[in-house]
Amino acid sequence: MVVPPTPENLERAAQIIRSGGLVAFPTETVYGLGANALDARAAARIFEAKQRPSFDPLIVHVADRGMLQKVVQEVPALAERLMERFWPGPLTLVLPRSERVPGLVTSGLPTVAVRMPAHPVAQELIRRAGLPLAAPSANPFGYLSPTRAEHVERMLGGRVDLILDGGRTEFGVESTIVLLAEKPTVLRYGAVAVEELERVLGRLELQVGAREKPLVPGQLPQHYAPHTPIRIAPPSEIPLGLRKRVGYLAFQEVPKGFKVVKVLSPTGSLLEAAAHLFEALHQLDRLGLEAIYAEPIPEVGLGRAIMDRLRRASSA
Ligand code: AMP
Ligand code: MG
Repeated sequence: MVVPPTPENLERAAQIIRSGGLVAFPTETVYGLGANALDARAAARIFEAKQRPSFDPLIVHVADRGMLQKVVQEVPALAERLMERFWPGPLTLVLPRSERVPGLVTSGLPTVAVRMPAHPVAQELIRRAGLPLAAPSANPFGYLSPTRAEHVERMLGGRVDLILDGGRTEFGVESTIVLLAEKPTVLRYGAVAVEELERVLGRLELQVGAREKPLVPGQLPQHYAPHTPIRIAPPSEIPLGLRKRVGYLAFQEVPKGFKVVKVLSPTGSLLEAAAHLFEALHQLDRLGLEAIYAEPIPEVGLGRAIMDRLRRASSA
């Protein structure tokens, strides 16, 4: 059931979490599917609802430093600097895990991925539940992430106890993930640009490319994908005959001759383009098109996260 985030509904949602249920809620990145991160049975319901393989660890969401202390063993100095600058916000840190976090949540890893979301509904839900929330994106595994409550309703409606509707999410792409090991390493491009992180930490290691044995599912070659085949190509490479039959996801300008076109940002803003990315793909995917073509986006700032998602969506 989709409900507005009134105090009564937030209380009801918190109660569902405390009793081991599932609540979908808005964050500033995408909608999350939350359960009590300290309860393995509750977390197991997330894997079941998403059809998510158990080798895919979950991000744990906290509302304050006290909760953070409960789920990690220690906070390295570099993590401290990142938290000061980017928390609350769309940055996930991978830190040494506390024994209290069930192995299912971290897929047996010695580390746990943690984030403090900035969205007021997410914060209020965690605070009222009084528990850290394990919460991956609220979509079936591998499919497009949800940026609206109705996306969650359509994809997972029957499998979630409650969906809190907070309107469209602000960033529209997932959090950036940084592993705080000997050298800080970016594991997934996301809503915090690598350039911003590098202003705080200096040069960062990048391990975002697809690998044979994925470290994190954000690194699986195919992920975030619509059902319709998707290809990346500038309009100039698509013959007019083909244009009539396919959809186009354009960055800034409307190219001629396509069956349908979605423009990500008429002003050419990467922030706006990221915010509209999954929504536009959800819309195009529902049209039963032969294929979706997507325009390459400049790979700076949030453009890296956008291209990362498009590449994975297109890797069949
Ligand atoms: P999602 O919430 O669906 O966007 O997925 C969360 C992402 O965080 C997944 O790709 C996980 O693999 C990654 N993640 C969670 N925990 C860890 C960890 N301990 N080490 C590395 N990556 C992690
Ligand atoms: Mg996901």
